[in-house]
Amino acid sequence: MTHGSRIPELAERLKRLPPYLFAEIDKKKREARARGADLIDMGIGDPDLPTPPHVVEALKRGAENPEHHRYPSYEGMIEFRTAAAEWYRRRFGVVLDPETEVLALVGSKEGTAHMPLAFVNPGDVVLVPDPGYPVYAAGTWFAGGEVHFMPLLRQNGFMPDLGAVPGDVARRAKLMYLNYPNNPTAATATREFFARAVDFARAHGIIVCHDAMYSELRFDDYRPPSFLETPGAREVGVEFHSLSKTYSMTGWRVGFIVGNAEAVAGLGKVKTNVDSGVFQAIQEAAIAALGGPQDVAEQYRRIYQERRDVVVAGLRGLGWEVDVPRAAFFVWAPTPGGLDSRSFAARLLEEAACVVTPGVGFGPSGEGFYRIALTIEAKRLAEAMERLQRLKL
Ligand SMILES: *Cc1c(COP(=O)(O)O)cnc(C)c1O
Repeated sequence: MTHGSRIPELAERLKRLPPYLFAEIDKKKREARARGADLIDMGIGDPDLPTPPHVVEALKRGAENPEHHRYPSYEGMIEFRTAAAEWYRRRFGVVLDPETEVLALVGSKEGTAHMPLAFVNPGDVVLVPDPGYPVYAAGTWFAGGEVHFMPLLRQNGFMPDLGAVPGDVARRAKLMYLNYPNNPTAATATREFFARAVDFARAHGIIVCHDAMYSELRFDDYRPPSFLETPGAREVGVEFHSLSKTYSMTGWRVGFIVGNAEAVAGLGKVKTNVDSGVFQAIQEAAIAALGGPQDVAEQYRRIYQERRDVVVAGLRGLGWEVDVPRAAFFVWAPTPGGLDSRSFAARLLEEAACVVTPGVGFGPSGEGFYRIALTIEAKRLAEAMERLQRLKL
């Protein structure tokens, strides 16, 4: 107990979490705003575009139905699970049984965070990409598991080298998280890599947990595959999906897990003890999004692509190196002149009032890179690129 407080100390599992690496940048942002700086914030991983109107309408109608005011079914309405399965069939040619291979989630973050509680015992290992979405490691630690970070290196296309996982670690591993199109690197996976992941998972008895959050934020003619399209993937893997990024619905909290029925049932067992499902009016809105007209999603893809082009052209104009992302709404690039990512981000903020996210905040292998989120208008991104020209690095 801390002096004067009646509240016990935080549990070890919370004390063990790494320090929040963006605290420093958040503080600098507040200070800059207090000075009256006109900040251009390219750090926000949350769509700025609104949810399509027909989805909002479906929520309003659903909210008026008293049936939806009661507890929803744990696993999600069969109509919602069927809409998700139908969407998978149309988009990926993957046929799923909505009864056993689809489960509704309170956003995909909820599902990825709870998955280790279903399959990981203390001393078990979970393979986690570095850099990566922090929830994979946090969920593992909460379950008492050990995290083995798999570095994502540029020379490997930001796909992990599965052969580099030590044998004794692979033997103790229960889950492996993957995420393509990737946050933060915007990298995409090859079908060959997915096939290697299936072989690896089979050899070691591991569940592949593929976070496919950005599969619909794709550019040019590129179409990200589903992990479940890989031969054998259904025996070893699940895929996490949500409406958050595709349909600009981060605030709605609705997603789903699909794939191996035993793995889905395991997560379902945790969830019946933790939450009571997703508000059915939201599920009806999600059905409208998945099954309705896709023109708004298409329009949004074009908007993100235009923004991507502004940033890529701007950075190249400065002589800075950058790969052109084919999907997700991020640009991930090496810091110019080999600056460390925190100093680089700090200088951009102080000297140009531009916010970028230092790569090291996503894990040690993110050092030497920074992330720009394409979640602000093209005009503002162009202005940011102009400001960067005046920087003397
Ligand atoms: C945004 C994001 C999520 C969160 O998804 P929700 O469905 O809103 O919970 C999950 N994974 C990655 C990689 C993300 O970037």
